[in-house]
Amino acid sequence: MRDFTPVLLHPECQVGADLAAWLAVGGGEGLQAALDAPGDVVAELREAELRGMGGAGFPTWRKWEAAAQAPSASGDRYVVCNGNEDEPGTFKDRHLLRWTPHQVIEGALIAAVAIGANHVVLYVNPHQDDSLRSVREAIAQWQDSVLFTRIEQTLGSALQLSAVATSGRYIGGEETAVISWLEGSFPFPRRKPPFPAQSGVSGAPTLINNTETLANVPHILRRGAAWYRALGVAHASGTKLYSLSGDVLNPGLYELPMGTSLRSLIFGCGGGMLEGKAFKAVFTGGPSNTLLTAADLDVALDFDSVRERHSRLGTGAMIVISEGTSIVRKVAEYIEFFAAGSCGQCPPCKGGTLQMARLLDRIDTGYGTQDDLRALDNLCRILPGSGRCGLIDGAVTVVESSLRTFPQEYGLPSC
Ligand code: SF4
Repeated sequence: MRDFTPVLLHPECQVGADLAAWLAVGGGEGLQAALDAPGDVVAELREAELRGMGGAGFPTWRKWEAAAQAPSASGDRYVVCNGNEDEPGTFKDRHLLRWTPHQVIEGALIAAVAIGANHVVLYVNPHQDDSLRSVREAIAQWQDSVLFTRIEQTLGSALQLSAVATSGRYIGGEETAVISWLEGSFPFPRRKPPFPAQSGVSGAPTLINNTETLANVPHILRRGAAWYRALGVAHASGTKLYSLSGDVLNPGLYELPMGTSLRSLIFGCGGGMLEGKAFKAVFTGGPSNTLLTAADLDVALDFDSVRERHSRLGTGAMIVISEGTSIVRKVAEYIEFFAAGSCGQCPPCKGGTLQMARLLDRIDTGYGTQDDLRALDNLCRILPGSGRCGLIDGAVTVVESSLRTFPQEYGLPSC
């Protein structure tokens, strides 16, 4: 692994809610640059090639441009920092919000300047009460700052900066569910289009970005797109946070340059497998993606390279499992999580996840039959695309992947 100084996890950034300490280490300079030239911000993000860190890896500048250009009948425009983070194995956003809320808030304020938003909402999971408290303290300090007054002068209107506790449900992180919740309803996902950037909270253009995505923005505006690109590799800019957990010696949160290998993460940062355990597989990017195995350890961790292995970098959650761990059991646990998290709007999703969880449990406990396997396989074929949001597709992906990669664990002949 090459020498590397963390950006988001740099010790200087871990100042908690102390705004003066953040400004003393260069915080605020990115915002200042945005205030000096609001019209240049989107182009800078485009040049930096920053991508969304919450799952899909969508180019950030495209969302910003769409939210800036969409007409607003009410004159309102929203920026939402999505800190719902609720899926198993992911613990990066809560750290950023707890220990370095100012770099996140500054990123959201830069977004407000760039798209002309008069509302900035930090959307934080209430189960992470330290993070919510830290964000609220940090917001109060920003509201009393000179920079905040300059933002309002630049916008030509008052800016509402607030923290909102999410529903605490997994599905509440889906971006249209975020809109439902902010409008005062149950966080039901909605069909897209319209996309939030076109019509979000109360019909106003709404830019929703993941916490880690926004945390990168002040650094890019302060040091420039070329600096950010150079942190990564040719086809992938910057760094990525990884929530490393499972059967490794040193689980924890790590920041690495884009393009670092999976092997370096697990056997370098993670210290390798627990004593006496052999590597078996990793649930990459959370529990709703394709499993990677020992044959994939040298894959470069960046959006496109991981996608070439038919998986996704996702949130950067890496759940490592060792030989001797039942894949069927792990997958059953994740499908139970999805079944509990399904909002129930789409009958195939609620019924399908419950049915898959039941079948997996029967197979794992030795009561499965060939009919159960056929039923599981059938559900994997008919369920994708049957829901309003991606929950059901994610659930099917992990089941399908485990069936394909570890058929012997299901009592099927190996490929
Ligand atoms: Fe709700 Fe599932 Fe439909 Fe998504 S796919 S909207 S979680 S029922």
